[in-house]
Amino acid sequence: MKALCWFGAHDVRVENVPDPEILNPRDAIVKITTSAICGSDLHLYDGYIPTMKKGDILGHEFMGEVVEVGKDVSNLKKGDRVVVPFTIACGNCMFCKRDMWSLCDNSNPNAWLAESLYGYSGSGLYGYSHLYGGYAGGQAQYVRVPYADIGPLKVPEGMSDEQVLFLSDIFPTGYMAAENCGIQPGDTVAVWGCGPVGQFAIKSAYMLGAERVIAIDRISERLRMAQEHGRAEIINYEKEGDVVEMLKQMTGGVGPDACIDAVGLEAHGTSVGAITDTIKQKTRLSTDRPHVLRQVIQACRKGGAVSLPGVYGGFVDKMPMGAAFAKALTFKMGQTHVHRYLHPLLKRIQEAEIDPTFVITHKVSLDQVPQAYDMFKHKQDSCIKVVIKP
Ligand code: NAD
Ligand code: ZN
Repeated sequence: MKALCWFGAHDVRVENVPDPEILNPRDAIVKITTSAICGSDLHLYDGYIPTMKKGDILGHEFMGEVVEVGKDVSNLKKGDRVVVPFTIACGNCMFCKRDMWSLCDNSNPNAWLAESLYGYSGSGLYGYSHLYGGYAGGQAQYVRVPYADIGPLKVPEGMSDEQVLFLSDIFPTGYMAAENCGIQPGDTVAVWGCGPVGQFAIKSAYMLGAERVIAIDRISERLRMAQEHGRAEIINYEKEGDVVEMLKQMTGGVGPDACIDAVGLEAHGTSVGAITDTIKQKTRLSTDRPHVLRQVIQACRKGGAVSLPGVYGGFVDKMPMGAAFAKALTFKMGQTHVHRYLHPLLKRIQEAEIDPTFVITHKVSLDQVPQAYDMFKHKQDSCIKVVIKP
């Protein structure tokens, strides 16, 4: 089959690779009909995530048709259309039982490695380094889906791929980010980053009862989407100056009730050696430039909530913890517990509360994916979300 493989920073190629096979009784093989590129893939593309090997297959937002199932998978059969959560979870461990699927204790065979190197690990993830289990990803024609009796969601008749694809990641991620804000009626929520995750966080904040959402970015098309589709008030942080000051002014001097960082690792204008350098114990985020993590703490009102869907790794230094403590802020963060949200968010799509296709700006074939990574990274050609038709 053909697959998009990682060869190094800014070097991804479409290669011919062996087809995946059933390895365990709970596996399924899915023929991919639609896949996507995520902002998280850019951390791999930029070379920030260690333990990648040349030839690793990327991609964790995908769906398709079941072509084979292992002997213990009785809920799926050949021909079923499924969308697959990007987090791999066993369904049986303490964390899965507590609905904390992205912390699954059994799906990452390399958790021991991650814990000994970095002091932390998470569940297995598709196409996201050997730190997260070394699973082949879904920017490919076929993929092996472990624990297929637990993860994949069957797509109801009559729904298109594009309507349900983002249940694999960015819709639940934006939704959990908003849920983590504990929104009360009348609240104002500020969202840093108007990429796909930020866009879904904006919509979700309104679904959960926010009265105002203020969106921050520098890219005009993304701000426009936040304003027109998301009903957000907008701040262009490059043109409009001090974001923290503006947010205070827009909220009667108080600050937003909740602040969402949907940017993460490579916040614009910040040099982040991130995890790779952390191994060498020398990572320091530069303090002389604006950094979203600092801004969310500084802007948030007393007693407010800070929600971090943006991905971080390693150490982040010089955080205003005095302010966070004095203001009694609540922090919530982490990899999304995708399984938790599949059915409730499918229902919201079916009831036309949201049409997730609004975020798609580009559709490409597998052969075009290397150029699409470059375009998405540099935010060229008004690119917001790329879907792939393998
Ligand atoms: P993206 O790169 O398309 O969007 C990031 C946006 O942030 C861009 O529009 C960029 O212009 C903006 N930005 C950069 N610096 C900024 C700053 N200083 N202030 C305001 N905006 C700034 O990525 P995405 O797909 O939307 O993903 C966003 C983040 O969410 C990434 O870190 C990604 O890894 C993470 N993510 C997390 C999960 C999870 O499970 N928690 C899942 C998916 C994605
Ligand atoms: Zn993703």
